[in-house]
Amino acid sequence: MNISRSGATAQRKAQRRSEMVFVAPLRRCVKCLLIISVCFSISLAQTKPGSHSTRAHASMSPEAKALLEEAIGVVCTQAKLDPKSSIAIDEMQARPSLPLQSPEARAGAERAQRLLPLTKSLMIASLQQLATEYGFRKSPNFQQRMKQAIARVNSVKRVRPDMDSRDNASVYLSRPHVITFGTIFLAGLRSDEGMISVLAHELMHIADGDNDSLRPLVAAVGNKASDLTGLDIHGQRSEEVACDLIGAMAARAYITSTPGYESIARRLARSIQHNCVELDEGDEDHLSPRSTIRALLALDPELVRELINDREERKLP
Ligand SMILES: [Zn+2]
Repeated sequence: MNISRSGATAQRKAQRRSEMVFVAPLRRCVKCLLIISVCFSISLAQTKPGSHSTRAHASMSPEAKALLEEAIGVVCTQAKLDPKSSIAIDEMQARPSLPLQSPEARAGAERAQRLLPLTKSLMIASLQQLATEYGFRKSPNFQQRMKQAIARVNSVKRVRPDMDSRDNASVYLSRPHVITFGTIFLAGLRSDEGMISVLAHELMHIADGDNDSLRPLVAAVGNKASDLTGLDIHGQRSEEVACDLIGAMAARAYITSTPGYESIARRLARSIQHNCVELDEGDEDHLSPRSTIRALLALDPELVRELINDREERKLP
């Protein structure tokens, strides 16, 4: 499908309204489906039960809510202190286009391509973990879907830098071996953790494929996030949140496997801090960036704990 090239705003509108379309963590990734009817059927699909015919409604205690707010503070404080922090989405959107050959875009493209093979492994492990946590591993039907999803992820070969994509990353399901990455976005993700998070997000779209084959899991994640936050996280929004959650899980697995001198909280924050915006806008398909952080942390209390427990270290330069 065509994407408007007439500027970031028009491009985003085209992506959101007619490309169906799934902008990333971020509101900034686009998943272009092959069959329009599939896109319009997503909201209907949410009403179908997943593997749980009756679902317990999750909730958060006042204490958990307070910890969540504290963790958001850590993430967005690190956005200002960390020299390798990810640039906020709204700030990226305001930047001029970046040529492919600019040093920042080239460095970002090299980082993305270098991390792609590792991210594929981390993403698949995260997807399997999430399926287990949500009770889908015992379903033979879902296992078959997972096999196909994993095969799609393994077939992704490269990252294609694209100046016109600006601050967006996209997957076109007609070209499932490629992740298209805007040069501004490549340059704005200044750490391996930030890059892995976004790459894993895109891989989750590819895993879901053009038949929304992971829909039961995606819907379950959306339902839980809705219950926990009171936000409306259904339809396309649930896919974006599930992609973001996989991104955060993949980045955390990377951090665990590569201990270093930097604080854990600082590194964890990089996986979601592009959402620390001043201009906090959402739309029908996407939570606003700050609501996205809230939903992710509500879904992942372990991440909240790790961000907060590391608070002493986050004072380090
Ligand atoms: Zn997305």
